[in-house]
Amino acid sequence: MRKRSDPTSPVQLDAEKELDQTLRPLRFGEFVGQKKIVDNLNVFITAAKQRGEPLDHVLLTGPPGLGKTTLAFVIAGELGVQLKITSGPALDKPYNLAGILTNLSEGDVLFIDEIHRMNAVVEEYLYSAMEDFRIDIVIDTGPNARSVQLNIPRFTLVGATTRAGLLSSPLRSRFGVTNRLDYYPAADLESIIGRSARILGEEVGSDGCGVIARRSRGTPRIANRLLKRCRDFAQADDSLRHSGGRITAEVAEYALKKLDVDEHGLDEMDKRILLAITEKYRGGPVGLATIAVAVGEEPGTLEEVYEPYLIQEGFLKRTPRGREATDLAYSHFGIRKPRRSQEQLDLLA
Ligand code: ADP
Repeated sequence: MRKRSDPTSPVQLDAEKELDQTLRPLRFGEFVGQKKIVDNLNVFITAAKQRGEPLDHVLLTGPPGLGKTTLAFVIAGELGVQLKITSGPALDKPYNLAGILTNLSEGDVLFIDEIHRMNAVVEEYLYSAMEDFRIDIVIDTGPNARSVQLNIPRFTLVGATTRAGLLSSPLRSRFGVTNRLDYYPAADLESIIGRSARILGEEVGSDGCGVIARRSRGTPRIANRLLKRCRDFAQADDSLRHSGGRITAEVAEYALKKLDVDEHGLDEMDKRILLAITEKYRGGPVGLATIAVAVGEEPGTLEEVYEPYLIQEGFLKRTPRGREATDLAYSHFGIRKPRRSQEQLDLLA
């Protein structure tokens, strides 16, 4: 078995990744939603195939679990080429990158997950690989050190990042196609859950699908995970025996309650952020850096991974003075909104 540190090997699979693999769409036909991105990529892929050229490099950004890796699989599948997977942190030395690049075949897709975490030296090497399909590597050290130029097969880099803001502009500018994935509406998540249930051989009523979809935080990975947990409850919880193993709305509601997933699907960090603002800072406005310290997370991660969903769902407002919890946030937690003093109102005016 290859070691985890070998960046040329596919990333190691833990239980959740294994589930991802089983349920992962491999062609556009199976990829639900994100219509604009899919339609455009379809055109670019068809055009590249007609010209007999590799597809231009593609950058995919957006919060975790929305389908960036899946799109890399789909792109390779549609191009009819091989996909090699690695990640920014695994590429810690230039020779790791050189090893991967020289092992590619013409037209292959190289997927680099968490590309914002690649070290700066390796990133420099990647520039000439992306642009001119060659790399200069230095061999030997001291007086014998010399630079050797290696030609590499023309390939397509698909880079994925949850933290678009951390990409250097030279790297960003070398991608010909950039797409930001958005949270999925409940209707798309229902289709994804229905598809996953068929693959897993599960019986899920459309009402059951709907309950899971609405609580999946707009995220396919969460939808698939909740589906599996609902399946466990349907199968093994004695109080649900009457459902005959079928995931009905009642089963889904019961399971999600047991899992502490609320009706908006907010996760632990979402709740901590909102509670920090409402309880510690009287609803805000409060600066991002202050919230970050209060919840023990990096400001950038809060901004790019957590906030977009909270803002989209109407729990949080971004104002020039900082973040503010909305009335919905208060009613969600059943907390009374504190009255603002005249002094505060004057300051906000
Ligand atoms: P990311 O790389 O953005 O973190 P993934 O591509 O690993 O997310 O997606 C997580 C899981 O969600 C995948 O295994 C796949 O089964 C499912 N998934 C993601 N996007 C879609 C989609 N558009 N249609 C169907 N399933 C999807």
